[in-house]
Amino acid sequence: MQDQILSRGIEAKGFVWLICAILLVLALVVNDVLPARAVSLSQELPHRKIIVVDPGHGGHDLGAVGPSGLAEKDVTLSVAQRIKEILLGIYEVHLTRNDDYTIDIEHRTAVANHYRADIFVSIHAGGGFRHQARGVVIFYHSPRTGPGSKPPQQQRHSWEMGEKPLPWDYIQGVHTVKSQAMAKFVHSHLLAKLSSVDRGVREAPCFVLRGADMPAILVEIGHLSHPADEKELRKPEVISAAAEAICEAIKEYFTKYP
Ligand SMILES: [Zn+2]
Repeated sequence: MQDQILSRGIEAKGFVWLICAILLVLALVVNDVLPARAVSLSQELPHRKIIVVDPGHGGHDLGAVGPSGLAEKDVTLSVAQRIKEILLGIYEVHLTRNDDYTIDIEHRTAVANHYRADIFVSIHAGGGFRHQARGVVIFYHSPRTGPGSKPPQQQRHSWEMGEKPLPWDYIQGVHTVKSQAMAKFVHSHLLAKLSSVDRGVREAPCFVLRGADMPAILVEIGHLSHPADEKELRKPEVISAAAEAICEAIKEYFTKYP
């Protein structure tokens, strides 16, 4: 009888050791495998790019108005909404305005900064001071060409030497190389899709871009003040083509700068 109790005790102890060993192995496996799985999941899900598109003007700010009455604010909203439709499945896309209302320039830039956008694209179809001006032109911001702006050497000194905090008005200068690259992509895709006049890629002081803390451009898809451009921009297929061209350029930009 005592032998039976003794042997049952030994069996019970063996069973407990077996359970402990299994638990130990499980703990090691879980500890080892789960973090690896978590890392691989995060690697499988890259950061979804965030794009903020700014339909220029809006509300009582009509922008340029064509000879037959087409307002820039309506053209820019149509293009921006089409861009959002095309890109929504691929990227996170926000517009600075979703309807016909007035917003000031600082608010447009603030929306892009608020969403921590990867890129900011402001859409325009304005008028030139010269009535004959027409065609496609893409701007990236450069304070250098502005009246009263600091010379480049001085800007470089204050940004890079840490003598004083980076002035917010100069923040876009950090992104100039990428802004210029994006401008070139948009320029070539727009000219390939639209039968328009090439007015190039230019640097200029652009108030809507200067406080944007990401690569940013201003796209003039045409000049409404010119009758030929106004006629083109009335066509829904031209609006779609312009939006598609900008989307293709954005995809190319993210291929180059992932
Ligand atoms: Zn405009």
